Amino acid sequence: MSRHDPMQGQNNNNNNNSHENNSQDFQIPTNFSQQNDNNYFTLSRSSFSSATPAVTAPTLPSVQSAFVLGPPPSRHGPIRRNRRKLRESGKSDTIPPPYSWATNQRAIIHSLNTLNSKQIFTITGDVQCKRCERKYEIEFDLREKFAQVGAFIALHKVAMHDRAPDIWMNPALPTCKFCEQENSVKPIIAPKKKEINWLFLLLGQFLGCCTLEQLKYFCKHNKNHRTGAKDRVLYLTYLTLCRQLDSTGPFDR
Ligand SMILES: [Zn+2]
Repeated sequence: MSRHDPMQGQNNNNNNNSHENNSQDFQIPTNFSQQNDNNYFTLSRSSFSSATPAVTAPTLPSVQSAFVLGPPPSRHGPIRRNRRKLRESGKSDTIPPPYSWATNQRAIIHSLNTLNSKQIFTITGDVQCKRCERKYEIEFDLREKFAQVGAFIALHKVAMHDRAPDIWMNPALPTCKFCEQENSVKPIIAPKKKEINWLFLLLGQFLGCCTLEQLKYFCKHNKNHRTGAKDRVLYLTYLTLCRQLDSTGPFDR
């Protein structure tokens, strides 16, 4: 999201949903009195049409929000430390967005609001068949697939106990469109971690195809320095990506 993004004035303040570990670092101005309880996961699918502002911009005081809204009032927040670490390691604070649905921050995608305003409704990604080894691109309808993931989380989150269920750990893979082998098409995950197509992996529920190291990279850049088993890091990755898309959904840890 650029500083000139027309959505930037519409970030509403909803600190009730914010990260517990950084909610005091940034104060996002409230200038947007949209219905905060307009959570489409508790409403019908039709409430999520493009004409309805059923989802709001991210209310997390995240890296993305900090850049959109200008420097945080606190001089000691985690983002500042994170940026200093990046500079010390010779890495720049920002990256060229690897996809139109990704921001210039590592491991941070745009919110649904921003994607709506950019008219991005289809998310593509590269896959390869394990059997015939052909590589091709598949696409997902953003709203349809995110509604599926969100509904799954809303239904099963309590029973997950902060661990990814088996269906996330061992994703069901699509059937190959060439050789028609079932459960055979794996996502091609970018070797450079900053180029990983996180939104595509989320929508296909392919995140379990990532290595633990890739998942930890995602969590690190979202200020979750989680060291743990893959099922816990994977769970956090799912929830965090969903929160990046829709901070009003049932995606708090
Ligand atoms: Zn095949």
